[in-house]
Amino acid sequence: MLTYKNGDLYLEEVALRRIGDEVGTPVYAYSSGALKRHYQEFQTALHGLDHMICFAIKANSNQAVLKCLADLGSGFDAVSGGEISRALHAGAPGHKIVFAGVGKTKDELRLALEAEVCQINVESEPEITSLNEVAQSLDLQAPIAVRVNPDIDAKTHEKISTGKSENKFGVPISRIRDIYRHASHLSHIKTTGLALHIGSQLTDLAPYRDAFRTACDLFKMLRGEGHPLKRLDVGGGLGIPYKSDDTPPSLAEYGALLKEFVADIDCQIIIEPGRHIAGPAGVLLTRVLYVKSGNGREFAILDAAMNDLLRPALYDAYHRITHVSQPSLNEKKRLYDIVGPVCESADTFAVHRSMPIIKPNDLMVIEAAGAYGSVMASEYNTRPLTPEVLIQSDAYSIVRKRPSIDEIISRDRIPSWL
Ligand SMILES: *Cc1c(COP(=O)(O)O)cnc(C)c1O
Repeated sequence: MLTYKNGDLYLEEVALRRIGDEVGTPVYAYSSGALKRHYQEFQTALHGLDHMICFAIKANSNQAVLKCLADLGSGFDAVSGGEISRALHAGAPGHKIVFAGVGKTKDELRLALEAEVCQINVESEPEITSLNEVAQSLDLQAPIAVRVNPDIDAKTHEKISTGKSENKFGVPISRIRDIYRHASHLSHIKTTGLALHIGSQLTDLAPYRDAFRTACDLFKMLRGEGHPLKRLDVGGGLGIPYKSDDTPPSLAEYGALLKEFVADIDCQIIIEPGRHIAGPAGVLLTRVLYVKSGNGREFAILDAAMNDLLRPALYDAYHRITHVSQPSLNEKKRLYDIVGPVCESADTFAVHRSMPIIKPNDLMVIEAAGAYGSVMASEYNTRPLTPEVLIQSDAYSIVRKRPSIDEIISRDRIPSWL
């Protein structure tokens, strides 16, 4: 998808240099072809299963990205009222939206019910009570799946692990039976599903095996108790290769494993991939401002920073960083610390990275930045929110423009008494 042609890096058929020159940097660039292909690859892997792929909006919520997927028939996993509105606005029907999240407000629950989402994944008894009240006030039945916390170690970064008993997510297995019994007695709740999501960036199938086994056992047990379950939601989390030698499971292996467990359950399977669809489809394009020598270190200072892409600062995440101008094969390499201009030492994209020579004004891409990139961006240091472009074949469109400093400042108000 990223390829050099005549010495310049292209995403699809667009030279990234063109985007850098015309839109300015830093800027996120996404390939619509890759987004669609990744969605279709999930379809292929789950072929033969009654399933719905619900793209996790929190990975990349740009309207153009959502529309790209909605047009293919994708469902969506929303974790806030704002994300439900984004999905509806991009053309997704309510019945293809799953509403998840550990702390939903009553306003958000009302929005979800009014949008007739297919399922609300609840995470506590008090939430079920709240939801019952809201549904009663609207004279609607709320379709719920309880999110179980299976106490499984996803073997991923601690900040993106969600299925261990010490994580805030879900309800413990030991309470599941009672919670379903309680919920089924509420007048405006329908127990229609079971959900789990054990973490993100999983690079091993073993935790999935444990999770699928637990989920299927619970599903059968709950049906045995008379709950009319129709859907099993196994969450997202499949990892992508950030490093060249990362080897996450293939979609085919993931699909085969899932089929193995759910073969004898007659229900719809929901999966909620985010990173796997959007991550590899995008890059953060940035220009080198300065190269300076420190004490035994070379610093390459980019015009992109932690406010544009937070993952390295937040999770110590690794991203490949690549020259837009193809380095010659025999070009010598040096060790660089690649950093942004923000006034934080955490504003570091790579430490001691072996790279072909970096010069001021070079264009670089930070790869696999299509998921959890732009959505986590902020205007820290009054750096404008990073713009985004979407590429299709040999053309691109700006799908979120860079705000001007005046726009940013004009959001603030000076009270009359100052
Ligand atoms: C974050 C999240 C996902 C998506 O995770 P990925 O690692 O991006 O696939 C899916 N479901 C829930 C409930 C989540 O919180």
